[in-house]
Amino acid sequence: MHIFWKKYSLPVYVFLFVVFLLVFVQIKVENPIIILERFIKGGGWIEIFFIGLYGAFIVYKMQDPVKTAKWRMISWTVFTIAFFAQLALGLLGFERFLMSGNLHLPIPVMIISGPLYRGELSVMTLLFLSTIIITGPAWCSQLCYFGALDNIASSRKKAVKGKIKNISAIKFTLLFLIILTTIILRWFNVDLLISTLIAGAFGVIGLLIILFVSGKQGKMVHCLTWCPIGTIVNYTRFINPFRMYIDMKSCTLCNICTTSCNYDALNREDIESGKPGVTCTLCGDCVSSCHASSIKYKFFKMKPESARRLYLFLTISLYAVFLALGRI
Ligand code: SF4
Ligand code: SF4
Ligand code: SF4
Repeated sequence: MHIFWKKYSLPVYVFLFVVFLLVFVQIKVENPIIILERFIKGGGWIEIFFIGLYGAFIVYKMQDPVKTAKWRMISWTVFTIAFFAQLALGLLGFERFLMSGNLHLPIPVMIISGPLYRGELSVMTLLFLSTIIITGPAWCSQLCYFGALDNIASSRKKAVKGKIKNISAIKFTLLFLIILTTIILRWFNVDLLISTLIAGAFGVIGLLIILFVSGKQGKMVHCLTWCPIGTIVNYTRFINPFRMYIDMKSCTLCNICTTSCNYDALNREDIESGKPGVTCTLCGDCVSSCHASSIKYKFFKMKPESARRLYLFLTISLYAVFLALGRI
């Protein structure tokens, strides 16, 4: 009974929590947000049930550390495909696939540039900030509609050893330039079309980095350097209490785990310091790579395995809810 419950308790909890959150949305929001409800009266209830089951299935797979990386990539990719497929259908004229009909460029930089340009907070920005409070950096490991592309590209090869040079300087310079450019566009009342073209060019360069650099480095170079939202996540995630650490009592400093991290957070200096670098997203891909089981999650005084399970519960529950609701 104990082993059975250990295996299935997390999927059961995720199923119940996801269904609870989506039922709340289904009842409270007047214009149906659950997509099936827009096509068939009552269809939203069926979708809620299956999204709950899907979340339970994903967490069932990911709770095994050996399978975490594989199922994180599959599930993150599914979210990206669902997001962009709905956007494409919406643009083709099937407006029911759009959330509000207020289109904006589907690139993460808009989370910061959009509100700065318009001078008002957007729902997307509030959603983004709440994920940092609830799950720390999971936005950049499971919840962003764009980062899955960088994850796929970088997973084609094991990570090249050695930290990306001057990574913090690059990150902060780009973040500063993005904020400055957006403020200038607003101050000078630059035409929306020109502003959109500038943002579009930023997105295209990002795609080129994914295509031509991340694959060669085996690291998510786009997310680590080019995307300013990644920088915000890296430094604000500490408001959330979840952490990852390396147990130096058992670590043999073999550095084998280094190549399992696409986020450039497990270099020699990180390992010697007893914790992954600031770009760690708590994705969990590295946990099974350590022969000494030295890479562990931390949440206050909880046991490491319980902390990992709690983190998976929160992240996958949010992921499933985003899958049901995430569209432009
Ligand atoms: S760094 Fe940017 S593109 Fe990458 S996952 Fe985070 S928000 Fe998305
Ligand atoms: S694989 Fe494990 S033992 Fe080896 S350096 Fe990494 S954390 Fe330490
Ligand atoms: S250190 Fe481990 S948990 Fe952190 S980003 Fe790298 S692979 Fe993921």
